[in-house]
This record gives sequence, C-alpha cells and structure tokens, in this order.
Amino acid sequence: MSEKTFYIETLGCQMNKSDSEKISGILENMGYQETSIPEESSLLIMNTCSIRAMSENKAYSYLGVWKKLKKKNPGLKIAMCGCVAQQTKEKVFAKAPQVDLIFGTQNICELPFLLERLNSEDRVCSISKTPVDVDESCNPNRREGISAWLPVIEGCDYFCTYCVVPYTRGRQRSRMPGDIIKEARQIASEGFREVILLGQTVDSYGNDIDNPDINLANLLKELNNIDEILRIRFVTSHPADITDELIYTVRDLGKVCEYFHIPMQSGSTEVLKRMRRPYTREEYLELTGKIQREMPDVGLTSDFIAGFPGESEEQFGETLSVLDKITFDHCNTAAYSPRKQTPAAVWKDQVPYDERKRRLNILNKKVREVVKKSQEKYLGRTLEVLVEGFKEEDGEIILTGRTRSNKIVHFPGDKDMVGTLADIRVKDTSIWSLIGEIRQLHNLNKS
Ligand code: SF4
Repeated sequence: MSEKTFYIETLGCQMNKSDSEKISGILENMGYQETSIPEESSLLIMNTCSIRAMSENKAYSYLGVWKKLKKKNPGLKIAMCGCVAQQTKEKVFAKAPQVDLIFGTQNICELPFLLERLNSEDRVCSISKTPVDVDESCNPNRREGISAWLPVIEGCDYFCTYCVVPYTRGRQRSRMPGDIIKEARQIASEGFREVILLGQTVDSYGNDIDNPDINLANLLKELNNIDEILRIRFVTSHPADITDELIYTVRDLGKVCEYFHIPMQSGSTEVLKRMRRPYTREEYLELTGKIQREMPDVGLTSDFIAGFPGESEEQFGETLSVLDKITFDHCNTAAYSPRKQTPAAVWKDQVPYDERKRRLNILNKKVREVVKKSQEKYLGRTLEVLVEGFKEEDGEIILTGRTRSNKIVHFPGDKDMVGTLADIRVKDTSIWSLIGEIRQLHNLNKS
C-alpha cells in the first residue's frame, strides 16, 4: 500500500459526484493518489446522500465493511462527508466509531487542514451551519470522459416539505458568470466536449444576485460561444423557474440540447400543495405542453413520489393519469421516505409502508409502458449523437453515445469516433437504449 492513497465512494446525485471530483482534486494536490481498490487505500471517503433512507443505510453498510479493513490496518483513516454528514454531525461518531473525520457539504475546501488536524487529534468534525460562498479555489479532478459537470448554483430556497436539501446544502447561492465561463473554458481545454450545468434548481440561477442580466438563458448564450464545446445541458429544473426566455433560448441555441428534467413529484394539485411545490397539475401540463410545441423532439424526464403523506388512492390515480398525457422519456420514481428535519416526516397521515410500495410498483409499471412508447417513436429516425465511449463485443467495436434528447444509443463504429458527433439511424429500440447504424459523421475535430 502506498503512503498516501485514497478511495471515494459516492452515493446520490450529480452534485455529490461533482463534489467528489473536487475532493479528488484537493487530495491529488496534496500528493495523494486515487485508487479504485479500498483495500489499497490509506484514506477512505464516504460521500453520502440522505435523500432517502435506503441511501443513508447504504452508506452505513459500506462503513461496516470498512471497519473490518481498519481492524487489519489501524493506520487507515475513514472520512464521511455529504448530506448525511451535514445532517448527523458528531453523532456519526457514536453510530460509526470507525469514522475519524466528518466534514460537511460546505467544508470540502478545508480538507487539507482537517487532515492535518487528524495527525494530532483522534477525531475531527467540521460542519458549517450556514452556507458559505462557493469556493472558487477548489479545482476538481474530473473523471475522464466526454461530458463534464459544472456546478453553477448550490443549495435551494424552496423547502419542499419532504426534502432535506435546503438543510444539507443550504440556501441558494449562484456562482458568478465569469467564474463559470472560465471553468467551462478549462473544461474544453481538457478535452471534454459536453458541459452539464448542475444545480438543485438550475433554472433559478442568478435569482439570488441583484442583476437581472444574470440568469440561465444568458449564461447559456455565453457558453454557446466556446468553440471546443459541442453540447451543453443543464439539470435539474424546477417547474416554477422555467421562463419563456429559457425555453426559446434552448430552442434557438445550436449547442444547447433540447432536454429538460422537470420533477413533477405528484399529479395531484392538492398533494403538490402539501409538498409545498408552487404549481398546479394544470400549470405543469401547460409548461411541458409549451416546451413540446416549441421543440417537438425535446427529451422530457421527471421525478415522482408514490405514497406521500395523506395521498389518497384517487390522488395517486391523478399521478398515473399524467403519464397518459405526457410521453416522458424517463421518470425517476420512489416511494415516499420520511427524512429527519423535514415537516412531512412527522405528519400523522403517513401512508403505510406496504401501501407506498404497492403504489410504487404500479407507478413503475406505468413508467415502463410510457418509456417504451417514447423509445419506439425514434424507430427509423436519424438522430445527432455525441459519441461518449465504446466496448468490444465479439471482436466488434460498439460505440455508445447520446442524442440531443438524452437517449442512449449503441451502434457499431470506430474507436476514433469517441468525442465526435455523428448522425445515427435508429434500427431497433429497447427500454434502456436505441440501437442504430451510422449515417453520417460530422466534420468536426476532436482536439
Ligand atoms: S426544489 Fe428540489 S432540492 Fe429544493 S427543496 Fe424542493 S425537492 Fe428539494
């Protein structure tokens, strides 16, 4: 085992994955080397997610395995960060005494000092209670690939009654456009061809800055001018923040992909009210209808919760009926999971666990039907695909890429095509991907 090696296990959303890239960048600057084998590490980091109980339990089960590694190697240091760390703070030490270091979502850039402290202290915990400005001094160590995540806004001001994010990530803070553009140029110079702008409510970008010109539409216009970047995406959208200007900007800018991930969460206006989601069923349908009218080939995905407290059978039926009205390309679904600190967790009218699961199964079946339909509409069509990678299958190179609408496409081709755009004709579909053949390569250089 080398003196300074680290392994990071990342659970949860893209924001967590992006944070792990920052942690990796900081540690490599300190002379650490990343490894994919926990047994070979001198430092293990668990980057946790607390969006659902299942995810939190998974973090502790990893820590259970790592405890055994620590028994064999007492010099091993174990750190926990992310949303569970932010919420649970020092109490993690009682639940998982093998943990040496706890740091919060706002404390990533302190990591060198925290590790230094561990040389003289048994345990260290650093959790900022109030959100700090986004630290521009941490350079992420991005994973190799074609797409790079670029956080543009952190935290959230919505306080939906089921969600921990405002408590674990703090209030909304937008980065300044100059810093984002500088980082996007850096991303392009590293060979990435797609940037994915990240934020819990990405389209509220700029709302917390006293300058009406700072908004997502204008940011996209600036990023569209970076030559080496071929594509731009953004996630996650909040239905209440999508403006007409943003819709027209996505429609009109060549590099911005026609793709929106807009969590609806419930198809019932009454349930939405109790979730503190500031839109009605009708407003959501109107918004997605408008997006589809402006961009008929748009990719639309969503999130839904089954069995929110107080949700009646009829209200659950309203969620199912939304799926008859909108042919989503994909939906993330979950049974409601009560989370500490959130108002809904202590409401008396919890839907019993088995009933939540039953509704989730019904919802998933419906989602599969809708996704199948959405895949089939591409049969015979020719689509622009950004090639992201390849694998070898029985001596043949099978490339994988994504359409502008975020559909995954597999097709035979040449390894050199990775990082380029190609027109692919869709020959077959499955629930997960499209299968195609090359029609035309775009005349673009990778470098
Ligand atoms: S808008 Fe999203 S991140 Fe913010 S509180 Fe609601 S669910 Fe959580």
